[in-house]
Amino acid sequence: MKVAVFGGGVAGLSAAINLVDSGYEVELYEKRSVLGGKVSAWKDADGDTIESGLHIVFGGYEELQRLLKHVGAENNYLWKEHALIYAETEGQQSSFKKADFPSPWAELIGGLQADFISLGDKISLIKGLFPALSGNEEYFRSQDDMTYSEWHHLRGCSENSLQRLWRPIALAMNFIEPNVISARPMVTIFKYFGTDYSATRFAFFKDNPGDSMIVPMMKYIESKGGKIIPSARLTKLELNDDGSVKSAVLGNGSTVEADAYVSALPVHSFKKLIPKTWHKHQLFQDIYQFVGSPVANCQLWFDRKITDTDNLMFSHGTTFATFADVSLTCPGDYQKGIGTANGGSVMSLVLAPAHQIMDMPNDVIVENVMRDIHDRFPLSRHAKLLKSTMVKIPESVYKAVPGVDKYRPDQQTPISNFFLAGDYTYQKYLASMEGAALSGKQVAERIRKKFTP
Ligand SMILES: Cc1cc2nc3c(=O)[nH]c(=O)nc-3n(C[C@H](O)[C@H](O)[C@H](O)COP(=O)(O)OP(=O)(O)OC[C@H]3O[C@@H](n4cnc5c(N)ncnc54)[C@H](O)[C@@H]3O)c2cc1C
Repeated sequence: MKVAVFGGGVAGLSAAINLVDSGYEVELYEKRSVLGGKVSAWKDADGDTIESGLHIVFGGYEELQRLLKHVGAENNYLWKEHALIYAETEGQQSSFKKADFPSPWAELIGGLQADFISLGDKISLIKGLFPALSGNEEYFRSQDDMTYSEWHHLRGCSENSLQRLWRPIALAMNFIEPNVISARPMVTIFKYFGTDYSATRFAFFKDNPGDSMIVPMMKYIESKGGKIIPSARLTKLELNDDGSVKSAVLGNGSTVEADAYVSALPVHSFKKLIPKTWHKHQLFQDIYQFVGSPVANCQLWFDRKITDTDNLMFSHGTTFATFADVSLTCPGDYQKGIGTANGGSVMSLVLAPAHQIMDMPNDVIVENVMRDIHDRFPLSRHAKLLKSTMVKIPESVYKAVPGVDKYRPDQQTPISNFFLAGDYTYQKYLASMEGAALSGKQVAERIRKKFTP
């Protein structure tokens, strides 16, 4: 039996891995010349790695870590010190470190030691966050009717803790403000953060997400007989009389025929391809509820080190919400002798919220970013900026705004031979690499169930 998967991000790759493992003949078609989607990374003309966005593996990503191990990439990511580090002005840092106790004492004692919020903020947080820590999936889903800001204030938590502690987390997670993001994803991560000591550890890819994760996944699929076809864009689905898919038309006019078809496209791309006759099904109408968050990733190469922090950093009140010096966090890349790098810092910065900078010229954005870098890292004031790059994604992960969670579709659709994968489809995580990996696993399960006699 042949399955055609369209979209070579983590969801499509995970689907293909799970399907070749079940013995299916798999063909994976990707629009771009590089695979990985939002996690893709490529070399530019200078030999520098450009990433679509800075990516972190969390301790709680069980499916992604299982996949990495399965494709032989279990040693391709490195765990960092277990802490939330906030960059403050003039090179100061504040941090939220877990204490060396079992959860929830690790978080409680660690939180009480954090120096950048007041004792009043801490007490209000401990009291306020309790329902999240003791909640279950049903409770989290029921909180999707309000924004996180509303939830935070309703629980009596302070404005200072919202701005200092949680705003950068909301921006890092979904690239939108706490008064826009739904309470549902935020309280879900509090549960993980507050009750599972290891779930919130951060790891960075040793080289970059492409070489450390996407390439091993591709090699695994090919080693099992799967075919990967880059630069192949799905442009149309041709239907049989009963509404099922007859064939898929590619950008070069050729057609693909298979027994089952999987869209692992980002939701905004899939919207454009839904055949008109499928709109009678609610699942396909619900797809229009999803709108992508704009985000940009800026990389800066300096002629010297401007920080010695080998970890993820957050900051508030700056153009960037979350960032790292990848010359420290990713020791297999960005080192002296590789492209522009000369041993200095290579900052990779996620710019969010980003709706206001999508049309702004890149040099103006870089000027603004540099102003904030000078403010947070005094050593940068004497450093020379060797190079800057910018990747803008106008529609990245779907905006997790109140009310949208219930529209997330199952991987099985009302169309007998057509299935969905992607971080927006329903699985227990928000849009993330883990969510994409889980959706790929689930779509393979649905296909097995449907086609196994
Ligand atoms: C800046 C940034 C930082 C992030 N940081 C993190 C992080 O630290 N941790 C984390 O877990 N997640 C992070 N994410 C989220 C994560 O990248 C995504 O949730 C995940 O990669 C989505 O995978 P996907 O396969 O569902 O979609 P995508 O990655 O969007 O893959 C879809 C693929 O389909 C292809 N495609 C589109 N149209 C067509 C077509 N017509 N025909 C064929 N192919 C097509 C695309 O080119 C793409 O390769 C981040 C995202 C961004 C943008």
